[in-house]
Amino acid sequence: MTDTTTQARWQEDASRDLVRNAGARLAMFTRGEGASVWDDSGRRYLDFLGGIAVTSLGHAHPVFVDAIARQAATLAHVSNYFATPPQLELAALLKEIAGAGEAGRVYFGNSGAEANEAAFKLARLHGAADRNAGTPRPRILALENAFHGRTMGTLALTGKPYMQEPFLPMVPGVEFLDSTVAALEAAMDDRVAALFVEPIKGEAGVVELPEGYLRAAREITRRHGALLIVDEIQTGAGRTGEWFAFQHEGITPDAITVAKGIGGGFPIGALITYGEASDLFYPGTHGSTFGGNALGTAVAVAVLREIERAGLLANAAERGVQLRTAIEALDSPLVRETRGRGLLIGVGLRHPVAGAVVAAAQQHGLIVNAANEDTVRLAPALTIGDVEVDEFIDLFGRALHTVEDSLLLEDPTDHSKESA
Ligand code: PLP
Repeated sequence: MTDTTTQARWQEDASRDLVRNAGARLAMFTRGEGASVWDDSGRRYLDFLGGIAVTSLGHAHPVFVDAIARQAATLAHVSNYFATPPQLELAALLKEIAGAGEAGRVYFGNSGAEANEAAFKLARLHGAADRNAGTPRPRILALENAFHGRTMGTLALTGKPYMQEPFLPMVPGVEFLDSTVAALEAAMDDRVAALFVEPIKGEAGVVELPEGYLRAAREITRRHGALLIVDEIQTGAGRTGEWFAFQHEGITPDAITVAKGIGGGFPIGALITYGEASDLFYPGTHGSTFGGNALGTAVAVAVLREIERAGLLANAAERGVQLRTAIEALDSPLVRETRGRGLLIGVGLRHPVAGAVVAAAQQHGLIVNAANEDTVRLAPALTIGDVEVDEFIDLFGRALHTVEDSLLLEDPTDHSKESA
């Protein structure tokens, strides 16, 4: 356990020096390796959050470390006036794994929100192109409860009114729909520039779209000349068992956005466009100083090639099934269901106690997070094997028991303790 004086000190520093945009930090981590992290007292934890679906190769993976060291010692940054070999290699690799074909193009940013900002501008450019042809497309559709980021543009796309409220007015033009094909059919017309979709709503509690939704969305958007833009920021980089979640559905979108696991811990994001959508940006319409620099792109190339080399797509799919089966076999009265795909898993609880489960897990030496009040989210490294799965089940089972016991203690109608 962390020494309480040390803990008090860093918590004091954090609460004095960091902007209060987030709650209190839950621990001070100083080191990581594979699926393990260590706090400042030297205590080890099993990390099943992976920095929220980011550390796809785990912590301090030699491939990641080596790529950073080599590229930093070679050339880190030259600005987008110039090309670098890793930037072009990553663009070609992303096009390949995303199935974007010859016509595809890639824009680089530094985060998920920046990738989605670029996608928002892509949608506006599409609307403007058709406006010039006399058929404006001022409308953008997005899904209720989906999350696309926290910048002003991406917040406008994020279907969570409580997040938007302090920052009103929003960037105009975005309308929210429930995730049914019927709602999409009803809302769609030839004035829609784009539909934004999060294929599994991670921040909403790892909620999948209804079966067939993406295929129907592809057909409906195409019929009306609107772009289908899929946010693969949490689901991409192999997490669901395919490179990108849309690939389970056999569709071709007009654009996807990626970030998080692509860089394995190095901040990088990208917009990948398909077909005619690749012709919408023109010089001067967008840019970022750091986006696509040699250092970030070299790391992402190394991470993606290692995911491929080590067969981590298949591992994500198999470990996902293994984990969900084992969680369900715990037979906890707290667990209602497991959701998700591959190694993006939501454990749905019967009570709004996800925060308590996460806190108990941390006490037992396990890092997970509460996607909402009744969902615990798991997004571990894609490299996990039997050892990590077994340890997770042991620790998670104990965390669930801790919370089950406390619920029993708190339940005034429960008399089981009296006879015990
Ligand atoms: N889109 C999705 C689906 C996400 O899960 C996230 C982050 O959680 C974002 C966008 C925003 O990414 P970032 O936090 O890197 O800006």
